[in-house]
Amino acid sequence: MYLIEVYVTNASLNVNRPFTYIYKQAIEKYCRVKVLFNRSANTAIVSDCRYTEKDSDELKSELGYTPLEIVEVIDEEPVMSEELFNLAIWLSKTTVSPLISCLNSMLPKALKTSRNLSSPKMISRFHKHEGDFSFTKRQKEIYDQLCEGMESAQARRLSVSIIKKLIEMNAISEYEEEAVFVNSEIDRTAFKTLTSDQQKAFDRIISSDKMVSLLFGVTGSGKTEVYLHLARHFLEEGKDVLILVPEISLTPQMIERVKERFSDVVFYHSELSDQERYEQYKRVRNKEVRIVVGTRSAIFLPFSSLGLIIIDEEHDSSYKQDNVPCYHVKNVAFKRAIDHHAKVLLASATPSLESYTRALKGDYQLLELKERINHCFPQIDVIDLNRQLRNNGSYIISKPLRNELELCLRDRKQAIILLNRRGYSPIVRCSECGSTLMCNDCDTPWNYHKDEGVLKCHQCGRIYRIPDRCPNCGHKPLLFYGFGTKKAEEELARLFPSAKIERMDRDSVGRKGSHQSILKRFENHETDILIGTQMIAKGLDYPDVTLVGILNADAGLMHQDYNSAKVTFDLLMQASGRSGRAAHEGKVLIQAFNPEHYVIKAVLLQDYGFFYNIEMNYRNKTSYPPYSHIIEIMLSDADPLRIHRSADDIYDSLKDLPFKIYRPYELGKVKKQLRCRILIMGKDLLAMLKSTHEVIDAYIAKRNVSRVKIDVDPLYLE
Ligand code: ADP
Ligand code: ZN
Repeated sequence: MYLIEVYVTNASLNVNRPFTYIYKQAIEKYCRVKVLFNRSANTAIVSDCRYTEKDSDELKSELGYTPLEIVEVIDEEPVMSEELFNLAIWLSKTTVSPLISCLNSMLPKALKTSRNLSSPKMISRFHKHEGDFSFTKRQKEIYDQLCEGMESAQARRLSVSIIKKLIEMNAISEYEEEAVFVNSEIDRTAFKTLTSDQQKAFDRIISSDKMVSLLFGVTGSGKTEVYLHLARHFLEEGKDVLILVPEISLTPQMIERVKERFSDVVFYHSELSDQERYEQYKRVRNKEVRIVVGTRSAIFLPFSSLGLIIIDEEHDSSYKQDNVPCYHVKNVAFKRAIDHHAKVLLASATPSLESYTRALKGDYQLLELKERINHCFPQIDVIDLNRQLRNNGSYIISKPLRNELELCLRDRKQAIILLNRRGYSPIVRCSECGSTLMCNDCDTPWNYHKDEGVLKCHQCGRIYRIPDRCPNCGHKPLLFYGFGTKKAEEELARLFPSAKIERMDRDSVGRKGSHQSILKRFENHETDILIGTQMIAKGLDYPDVTLVGILNADAGLMHQDYNSAKVTFDLLMQASGRSGRAAHEGKVLIQAFNPEHYVIKAVLLQDYGFFYNIEMNYRNKTSYPPYSHIIEIMLSDADPLRIHRSADDIYDSLKDLPFKIYRPYELGKVKKQLRCRILIMGKDLLAMLKSTHEVIDAYIAKRNVSRVKIDVDPLYLE
């Protein structure tokens, strides 16, 4: 009899431990099995298997219960490697989340259910034996033409019958080997010759003895070209390469550049169907492809020998997962790089404060590309919206921006207008009682969406008919305040009736592939002005764009979040980097109510260092990251009594620990759920993790408590 330890996949998350079953045969570790758990059938992953002589009575007295028998073995082969299983354990520890939720987010969906993972592709080859064989002339010829390890299929093309004879004579024998597909073709002609700065960065990454390098290169400095040269280098050494990007649909040009040069490349992202993801997972596992471009979850692909992981726009918040396990892809990349002896390249024009600080300290190798490839930075101006209003100007499209747009259109160039708020008006207010209308389920104001003639909650997505009178006082009419991309688009159309204008935001790109078609039209210059949210700020490289206008540039600074200055700075730097990337000089106009703010100043100066020094000073004074670590414990519950009781309970078990513990703090409700947060802040992350584990393990074992979610080093605090 064999004792089999398994993790049950859809057990409730508070059973974060393996369960013991029995089976008549040994089962390989990391295969999936079917078990009965709480009287229902469940899929589970085998984490251990050992032989026992004991019979079921003896087992019962040892374990304290009679172990059930495994119902069925699903896989013939493990669905994951030892490395990935250990990665899941590590992930569970460092994100304080149940192992099973880690396993579930690592495997493609198709594997979480019941489909079988096909075995790697095998190839048969011939082994040549030495000896005195009495060959005929023809047999000798064929024997001499065979080389050791030749593929059987190829050999049989010489002569099926003679090969058969040679096997019978034992002059050759056939064996099977796992097929290894080295990236078949690399198109060398498509590679640009690196500039001397790019070459220097390339050489130093290759030769560095540090695991991590930070490529700090201004927008348009040719970082992508460096990635592609590095990828080629590592592929030629027989290593796998992973390039992570924030969002695939927003980087069509990067995709094209990769495709141009490498014939076999996997693009792994959330727009793929479950089946497609599963197919790609298999291709990586079977070593059919060695270069992957993907979003966050691609970090869990079953690579066998990673050489290089590139994280493009490493500061981007999409690299952090919002739901459990709330991991940051960078940390997972470092862990995998250690396991594979691989290198990690972080790259950005606006590196995260943490990465830049580490690079300055020498933990990472710092590489800089200070010059644009075209040696020409756009000219940047800030427009004070207060002054515009005093002079009766428009605060949507100011007079100076309007003039620049006119010039741009006259010269047949293109413009990008960024406004990081979708919809028509973000505030709906009663003209009588002045109350702001809110979503019924969330503490979030309604947004007016004119195209559909509805009110939308941007928190939960619920859609409402516009009430004909105020729900609070019964008065009418309602007033709409502020503006989003839709209203700005209308305003542009009014000002420039003959220009072709397109809008790109979450509302306009509903269908799959519509990102690409909007960007394609812009690329083909079928569109003159592209207006959109942060979606249009990243990565785009269009030579005819000579004007970027940023509306309400400082709106993001109103948030109370500790990170909002950095997020706003990144966005404005990214957006201004879209202008004047090729032969034509570019311009950027930034409209702001607070033009003296250091974020706006830093963007005006295009000076990361200027921003960094001020921001780090502020973080230091307030002890926010990177001067500390934060663990956020978030409770949610519809029951107000229970959430308060739960929060007090957790706070009581934390409060005497040697870290800074913030009292429970109530946040606005989302989807009818009340939310309450407790923060732990300190410098010793390992000790903080250990204490949090103890407290949370004890907490989830209790009955009738609120749902809890842990976020280690959250990027935002509402
Ligand atoms: P980044 O990723 O740093 O914003 P890109 O890699 O997009 O910059 O490069 C900016 C532009 O310069 C692109 O159009 C790219 O094709 C071009 N470019 C990059 N490197 C070279 C090079 N070595 N020679 C010629 N053109 C280059
Ligand atoms: Zn809502």
